[in-house]
Amino acid sequence: MSHRIPIARPDLGKEELEKVDEAVRSGWVSSKGPFVDEFEKGLSKYIGVRHALAVSNGTVALHLALAGLGIGSGDEVLVPSLTFVAVANAVAYTGAKPVFIDSHPDYWCIDPAGIKENITRRTKAVLLVHLYGHPCDIRPILEIAHDNDLYVIEDCAEAHGAEYKGKKVGSFGDVSCFSFYGNKIITTGEGGMCLTNNRDVAEKMRILKDHGMNPKKRYWHDVVGFNYRMTNLQAALGVAQLKKISRLVERKREIAKRYRELLGEDNGVTHAPEMPWARNVYWLYSILLDAGLREKIINALDLQGVETRPFFYPVHTMPPHKRSSRLPTAERLSARGINLPSGPKIGDEEVYTAASSVRKALKSLRSKA
Ligand SMILES: *Cc1c(COP(=O)(O)O)cnc(C)c1O
Repeated sequence: MSHRIPIARPDLGKEELEKVDEAVRSGWVSSKGPFVDEFEKGLSKYIGVRHALAVSNGTVALHLALAGLGIGSGDEVLVPSLTFVAVANAVAYTGAKPVFIDSHPDYWCIDPAGIKENITRRTKAVLLVHLYGHPCDIRPILEIAHDNDLYVIEDCAEAHGAEYKGKKVGSFGDVSCFSFYGNKIITTGEGGMCLTNNRDVAEKMRILKDHGMNPKKRYWHDVVGFNYRMTNLQAALGVAQLKKISRLVERKREIAKRYRELLGEDNGVTHAPEMPWARNVYWLYSILLDAGLREKIINALDLQGVETRPFFYPVHTMPPHKRSSRLPTAERLSARGINLPSGPKIGDEEVYTAASSVRKALKSLRSKA
């Protein structure tokens, strides 16, 4: 069903058309071409990291990061359970085992205490996800990683432009990964990027993403590589999107502010957090409701043409990655959370309509209870 107010609509216009048009006319439609380079340079400058590798999507960015750091069979990687499944899948692709960590109740990302408790002699890395636009508490995690000789990978797929203590996420880990899927803060249709300050890791990832081809000897392959390249067409979109990223992030924060004001604090709605050390970019504006009301609110909004999404299921509860252990905070957040319409193209009136629909639905459900 198509909704009057969709959850996310990309902000695409004349600038994007012009760049894609230029790419098509130039004939450079595959992964060679000037836009790939320009997009890589642009994002690495924006985040403040030296090396950038554009790839075909965010999932392969995660796989490439893990492979580039040499993670494989017999290794364990600590990941949050409450996130998109691609995170655990990427770990599984390498042959390593994802070990699921609970969420912090205040800001919903991976809990540093859980990281510490789950380190074994097989643990090689921790993969952080800045969930729904809010950064992880990075400082204590970097300390734990340093003390235990672990790599840190940042998944910034939902947090382009978010900041931890005044510095952009994606600039802290050994490798950081981005996605540019259609509903992300900037989009290339499908697309991703790996950033790193480590020249050797960058070089290894560059070889792996291009079939493992030896850079000095064409069609000579020393390793089993992948084709994870981004096309010049995608990068053309990315170059145009990157020019407006600051405005898109500001708009996300404005939308969040409006939802906070319109929904208020007094009616059983818990708002998306912003810790004192964080600058949240509110990828999809998130609220928590009573678990018993959540499905009913989703349905009530659906009938009014307002699209919402339930939070992710905790990955450790689903068949491919099922574990018997409980992660109570992740499970509780997952049962209570919804995302509200908050794409960059959403108008103030639409935010007002969506927020009013939530208020009305809450009120009528309460009066029935
Ligand atoms: C979207 C997303 C991904 C996957 O990105 P794709 O480009 O869709 O492959 C990975 N991790 C998180 C946290 C995401 O939200």
